[in-house]
Amino acid sequence: MKDYPRIRIAVVGATGSVGGAVLDICRRFPEHFEVVALAAKSNKKKLLQLASIYKAKTLCLTEPLCGDFKEEGKKCLIGVDALSEIASDSDIDHIVFASSGVTAIKALQTALKVGKDVSLANKESIVVAGPWVMPLVKQKDQLRPIDSEHSAIWQCLRQDPDREISKIWLTASGGPFIDYSKEMLEKVTPKDALSHPVWKMGPKITVDSATLMNKGIECIEAMQLFDLPANKVSAVIHPKSQIHGAVLFIDGTIKMLLSQADMRLPAAAALAWPERLDLISSGLDPIEPHKWDLQFKEINVSLFPCFAIACKAGEMGGAYPPLLVGADEAAVKSFIDGIIPFTAIPQVIEETLAQSVSASPSTLDEAIELVSTGEKIATQLCSNWRHCS
Ligand code: NDP
Ligand code: MG
Repeated sequence: MKDYPRIRIAVVGATGSVGGAVLDICRRFPEHFEVVALAAKSNKKKLLQLASIYKAKTLCLTEPLCGDFKEEGKKCLIGVDALSEIASDSDIDHIVFASSGVTAIKALQTALKVGKDVSLANKESIVVAGPWVMPLVKQKDQLRPIDSEHSAIWQCLRQDPDREISKIWLTASGGPFIDYSKEMLEKVTPKDALSHPVWKMGPKITVDSATLMNKGIECIEAMQLFDLPANKVSAVIHPKSQIHGAVLFIDGTIKMLLSQADMRLPAAAALAWPERLDLISSGLDPIEPHKWDLQFKEINVSLFPCFAIACKAGEMGGAYPPLLVGADEAAVKSFIDGIIPFTAIPQVIEETLAQSVSASPSTLDEAIELVSTGEKIATQLCSNWRHCS
C-alpha cells in the first residue's frame, strides 16, 4: 500500500467472528490502520480486552442493561444511539459493520450520509433496509462488502461497468449436511449444525449455512448491493469453498474470484481498497494452482427448501425479505434451544410468510417492524410445534 496517512477505523461487532477477522488485519498492518472505536452488544469483558490491545479511544455497548461501563482514558458509550454518534464522528474515516441483527441499520445510514467509507459484513441491514440504505451510497465503492461472496462479485466488477453483467453466481460450501438424506436431516442436532466444515462463524449464520438459508439471504443481499433483478442472481454449491463468486458478462466472459476461505481476505480487500495488502508476506497462504478445484453442484431445494423460500421472498420483495429475516431468526433460535427439529426450520418460515398478509413497508421503521412481526409469528409457531409434537 502507498504511503497514505493511517486510516482511522471503527468496528461495530468487534467481539464477533467477522469483527475478529477485521481486527486481525488492523493488527498486521498498524502502519495503515488505527483502530479508534470498538462497539459490541454486551460482551464488556472482551470489548475491554480488545480496547487495551488496539488502544481504541471510544467504546460502545448497545445493550442498555450492561451496568457500570467505565474505563480510564476511554470514552465509554451505552445504547444503540451511540452507534450513530460513532458513525458521524469526524475522527473516524472508515466504519466496519460486523454486528449481527438489524440494530446498526440507522448508524449505517448515518455513516453513508456523512460520506464515510463503510465496510459491510452485516447482511440483515441490506436485506431488510436495502431501499433505505443503497440510495445513500454517494460514490461507487463507498460501501464495500465483506461477506466473502459479495466481496468476490465486487472484486470481479472492479473495472467493469455494471450494465455489462448478464448474471452472477454466489457459491455455497453446502454446509455440514450437503450429502445427507431426508431421513438423516430429520435427526440433526444443534451440535451437528453448529460445526461448519469450512468457515468459523457466529452461531446464527452457522445454522443458516447448514439450512442454506444463508445462501438465499445472500442472493437477496446481492440483488440490493449490485442492483440486479432476481433472475440475474443465483447460487451454486462449491464444496471446496475456493471460488466465492462468479460474474458472467454479456460477451460470454466469466470472471471468478478464487482464494482461501478466510474472512481476513475480504476484510482486507474492503479496508485497503483501492490498494491491496501484502497478506502473503504477512503469513497467509495462497492456494497453489495444483490445488484448485473447479467442481460445482446444483443446490437440492427439496432437501434444502430454505434456499428456495428465501429466493422467492427476494423475488416478491416488499414485506417478504424483512419477514423472512425475522422468521429465520426465531426459527434458528428455537432449533438451537431444542424446541423444534432442524427440518422444521423451513416449515416454520414458510408458514410465517404465508400467514403474514403485510403491505410493502413504506418507511424504514415499518421494515424493521416487519422483522419483529416475522419473529413473533415464527416464535408462536415454534412453541405450538413443541405442544403438538
Ligand atoms: P457473531 O455472533 O460472531 O458476532 C456478532 C457481533 O455483533 C458481536 O460482536 C456482538 O456483540 C455484536 N452485536 C450483536 N448485536 C449487536 C447490537 N445490537 N449492537 C451492537 N453489536 C451487536 O456474528 P458473526 O461475526 O458471525 O456475524 C456478524 C454479521 O456478519 C452477521 O450479519 C453475519 O450474517 C455476517 N457475516 C458473517 C460471516 C462470518 O464468517 N462469520 C461471513 C459473512 C457475513 P456481543 O459479543 O457483545 O454480543
Ligand atoms: Mg457469505
